[in-house]
This record gives sequence, C-alpha cells and structure tokens, in this order.
Amino acid sequence: MINLVVMEGDGIGPEITAATLEVLRAADAAFGLGLQFTPVMIGHASLRTHGTTLTDAAFEAACDADGVILGPVSHHEYPPVEKGGINPSGALRKRLDLYANIRPARSRPGIPPRCGVPVDLVIVRENTEGFYADRNMFIGSGEFMPTPDVALSVRKITRQGSTRIAEAAFELAKRRRKKLTVVHKANVLRVSENFFLDCVRAVGKAYPEVACEEVIVDAMAALLVRDASRYDVIVTTNMFGDILSDQASEIAGGLGLAASINHGAIYGVAQAQHGSAPDIAGQDRANPTSLIGSAAMLLAWLGDRRKDNRLLAAAAAIEAALDRALADPQGRTRDIGGSLGTKAFGARVAATLEPSAASR
Ligand code: ATP
Repeated sequence: MINLVVMEGDGIGPEITAATLEVLRAADAAFGLGLQFTPVMIGHASLRTHGTTLTDAAFEAACDADGVILGPVSHHEYPPVEKGGINPSGALRKRLDLYANIRPARSRPGIPPRCGVPVDLVIVRENTEGFYADRNMFIGSGEFMPTPDVALSVRKITRQGSTRIAEAAFELAKRRRKKLTVVHKANVLRVSENFFLDCVRAVGKAYPEVACEEVIVDAMAALLVRDASRYDVIVTTNMFGDILSDQASEIAGGLGLAASINHGAIYGVAQAQHGSAPDIAGQDRANPTSLIGSAAMLLAWLGDRRKDNRLLAAAAAIEAALDRALADPQGRTRDIGGSLGTKAFGARVAATLEPSAASR
C-alpha cells in the first residue's frame, strides 16, 4: 500500500487535483500499485475551517505519508502568520527538508516550442535557502526593516545546501545527456556565489563523465530564449532556479505543462511549477498536465527509491498518455490552443492508461 496525501490547495488547485487523481486511479488499476489517497485540507479552506492554512494535523499527515500531491496555493492572499496564514508550500519544503526542486521543461509532441526547436532540459533548483525569507532562518524571517525606510533581505548559501543540490544535479546529468550547466552570479555576489560554485566544482570531481559549464544568470536568461535545446541539466540557487524554470517552461510550451517534484532524502512532494492561477479558477479551464506530470515524477521518485518497476512503468505510462493526449490538437486545453476542459482532459489521459494502451 502506498499512502499519498492529497492537498488540493487554492485557485485552480481543486480542479487540477481532481484530474490528477483520475489519472492516478487509472494508473493504479492498470499497474496494481496499491495507491491509497488521503485528502488533507490546506489553504483558504483550512483557514475558514481551522483558522490556519496549515494545521499541525495536516503537517503530521504529510510526515506519515509515502508522498504528497500538493495543489497550488494563493499564499500571497493569506493573512500574516500570526493570524494563521502559513504558506503550506514553503512550510513543507522547510520542515520536510525538501532540498531539491526538480523542474523539467520538455516540449510535447505537436506543441511548437517558443524558441523554435524542441526543448528537453531539467532545472535543479536548491529549495531550502537562498533569498527565501520564510525558510532560510532557524527562527524568524530573513526579511526585516531596521527603520521605516530601509528593507533588508538575508540570503543564505551553505556548504551542505550547495553540496547536496550539486550531487542531485550530477546524478541526474549522469543518467541523461551528461551535460551540466551551473548558473550563478559570481561576478557580483562574489562571496556567496563563488562559495556555491566551489561546492559544485568539488562535487563535480566525482563525475568526470559529466561535462560541466558555468554561465552567469543574466546571460542564461538570454541563452535560453536563443536556443534552449542546447541545455540538459541546469543547477542553480533557489531564486535563480525559480525564475529560470518559469522561463524555460514557457519556452518549452507553456506553464500549464510544467511539472515538478520537491524532494529531500526522505520525503517527496509533487507540485506543479505554476501558482494558483486565480484568473481562471473555477472555470474548468486549467491545464492539469502540470500536476499530472508532477504526480508521475513522484511515482518515478518512489519507484527509484523502492526499486519498484511497477511504479516506474506507471510513471512512464502517464507521461506517454500525456504525450498522446497533447499530440491531438482537439485533445488540448485552452492555454495551448485547444477547447477541452480540465475534467475532460484528465478523463482523456486516464482513458488511455488501460494496461493494453499503457504498454503500446
Ligand atoms: P498565484 O497568485 O498563485 O501566484 P498567478 O496567476 O500570479 O497565481 P500563476 O498561477 O503561475 O501565477 O499563473 C500565471 C499565468 O499562467 C496566469 O495567467 C494563469 O492563468 C496561467 N496558468 C498558470 N497555470 C496554468 C494552468 N495549469 N493552466 C492554464 N493556465 C495556467
């Protein structure tokens, strides 16, 4: 039995989570995975019911689960922390030590990439330190105002954080096209970024088979637009990774396609790259590919850890079903030029996950 906690979140969260669960149930039936889903309330719904967007019980449920499916959250709409407004996404990343945020940007068959050539890269983003004020301190916030006219943000880079994200990136590059791009801003942030680079270089000594290049972040933004197909695995600090991954996903086809997983040594959380998209919430317009793809990444992550081929096969079958559905212009959601609703798209992907279709 594999217990997946499901936190549907805010905005389009409930809709894309429902579509994702439909696909996971089909995968469960086709591959005999023994998935069990435990719904856990977070976000605005939890604030209304329990007075906080993330209860202790919700956090404990995540700790006890084999994995979490996390919908997007509208955390910038929440009240201050002292009034119950905890960002569930940031809190889970910090408290479950989900140091690696793996964000693929892959063109899907039939959907033209915006840079003209097919893209298949993965951004490996450090997820627990950097500029993220809600998670880079032991107590308190990394942002503060010493006077009413001065605002400061502390950015934290550690040897442990940099080393473990570099290891995750080199391991991934070794399994892919053996090419790693390290993105930094060491020409300006000379101490912290050179420290990050030194940590990555040290890890790289154990991976002579991986070709490694270093690129300054502003140049990287331009190079991705020029030709994102040149890149395979990209490793960088938290905020650069956050920004570049939205850019790369948009170049590859659109944010609605952008899957990701947050993981540490123990826990894994599937979470779409995008936010809660309040502009289209409740209209059956959201593209659930992002969260369905994230759920497939979670199954693959669990499969790798447990050496369970059924989980790996189910993850691959979900990816293949997404490709098949997206290849048909009639089978797409509106963000990528189709007319299908969220629910219908999820049903379509689930329907192609019959055991016979999955092994085609
Ligand atoms: P938040 O307030 O939670 O950050 P946002 O709207 O500011 O949300 P995103 O949710 O990342 O930021 O959305 C950016 C744009 O991309 C919006 O126009 C949104 O509608 C669109 N978008 C994001 N996710 C999807 C999706 N899954 N399907 C379709 N469109 C999406």
